[in-house]
Amino acid sequence: MERFQLYINGAFVDGSARFDSLDPATGSPWAEMPEAREADVNRAVEAAHAAFLSPGWANMTATARGKLLYRLADLVQEAAPRLAALETRDTGKIIRETSAQIAYVAEYYRYYAGLADKIEGAHLPIDKPDMEVWTRREPVGVVAAIVPWNSQLFLSAVKLGPALAAGCTVVVKASEDGPAPLLEFAKLVHQAGFPAGVVNIITGFGPKCGAVLTSHPRVAHIAFTGGPETARHVVRGSAENLAKVSLELGGKSPFIVFEDADLESAANAQISGIFAATGQSCVAGSRLLVQASVKDRLLAILKAKAEAIKVSAPDDMATEVGPLCTKRQRDAIVAALEASIVAGAQVVMGGVCPNGAGFYFPPTIMDCSGAPEADCLRREMFGPVLSVVSFETEAEALALANDTEFGLASGVFTKSLTRAHRMIRGIRAGIVWVNTYRVVSPIAPFGGHGLSGHGREGGLAAALDYTTVKTVWLRTSDDPIPDPFVMR
Ligand code: NAD
Repeated sequence: MERFQLYINGAFVDGSARFDSLDPATGSPWAEMPEAREADVNRAVEAAHAAFLSPGWANMTATARGKLLYRLADLVQEAAPRLAALETRDTGKIIRETSAQIAYVAEYYRYYAGLADKIEGAHLPIDKPDMEVWTRREPVGVVAAIVPWNSQLFLSAVKLGPALAAGCTVVVKASEDGPAPLLEFAKLVHQAGFPAGVVNIITGFGPKCGAVLTSHPRVAHIAFTGGPETARHVVRGSAENLAKVSLELGGKSPFIVFEDADLESAANAQISGIFAATGQSCVAGSRLLVQASVKDRLLAILKAKAEAIKVSAPDDMATEVGPLCTKRQRDAIVAALEASIVAGAQVVMGGVCPNGAGFYFPPTIMDCSGAPEADCLRREMFGPVLSVVSFETEAEALALANDTEFGLASGVFTKSLTRAHRMIRGIRAGIVWVNTYRVVSPIAPFGGHGLSGHGREGGLAAALDYTTVKTVWLRTSDDPIPDPFVMR
């Protein structure tokens, strides 16, 4: 069994306990993970706090911080094959995806490296004589970054990059499911030369680790990615420290196809939109809303493509859909599908849990036309399950698209420019992809509203989110200050 350690205050250390990590392709333990509990969390946060105040970090120029981030980006790029193999082993995410995604993670660090010395305050044309007034953008302090199992290196990069660029220090909590790639990434942070305590990487379970972190009095900002139910615990935890909170939660994103769309192209985007990452993607286009006149044609194309998907071992470059990360996740999908069938949804393909080792589940398409309340249409499945509903008119498409508590992503496929604009305006979601799907970039903000959370990752705004504004008033007159009881 491989063994991993926590990274606290610049040192690789064991946690208060240990737990086994299962290989999702076999269901067998393959590595021993360190489990951070209260004492470990406290040490990590105290280390981050001390580092935040230390001259080595506090007085480092923003340009020098940027250089450390550039170095980290290069190291991530070099280590991408090793990190990808570890992520595949520990989470079951297929090697094709982990290899491509981790190489791109380096670009996120590069983007924020370049931004570090471009986070500016402002000089204010104040309405009083003999005063210079300006604002400084200062780092908020210790950041708690909490990520779920899927894409841990990516989801931590969109927090670490802007937080470090802004001058914060960070405690990253990897998910207890598949923490290996993030714990390994700690070695790159160390090698890049960040001062001890600036970045700490731990893992552990919700109540004994996550909850201690989010309510810790020294934490100033919580950047959380995960499910809405856990987010409620996080917000409750933040009632203790009154930390700033940003939440990137799940979705039930509509993928809308009009009859004038290029159906072949829409089908390819839909296949990747729902079956990439074995459906364990917050932006999964899990609700296909298709105009009734092309429903049968589109479903036939989708079915043919989905049936040709190679479901196999995640470490095989030819595999297109691998296992789910956990058995718990697969059990939840099976239960939701059973309830959906009772509610009137019909299985178009898939839906049957295979026998054998590993947490596999096949690409599945459900027709929910007669089942508006089916679980698979309403709830985030976080697996390879596409739910389909047809519509007649544009107004109906928009109403269906917005008939959700979530508001993360959406896709619109049409050749009509004017209709595309109307849909862009009407859809309540943080992202609208038109004639494309599931494209991301460090330059573009990412996030949602409603049950999908709030706050944005990516772009300049994300770096500003890790700063606080200090207003400076400087009197430029040498005259003595006059009578204190006359306000000026
Ligand atoms: P989860 O909410 O169960 O866990 C996320 C993290 O929170 C884990 O590290 C977990 O240990 C921690 N946690 C659990 N209880 C906690 C507590 N009481 N206090 C603090 N932390 C606690 O999520 P998951 O099931 O691992 O991941 C799937 C969810 O993540 C889905 O809903 C998915 O949509 C969402 N997600 C969102 C995005 C996005 O950017 N919007 C990206 C990926 C995943």
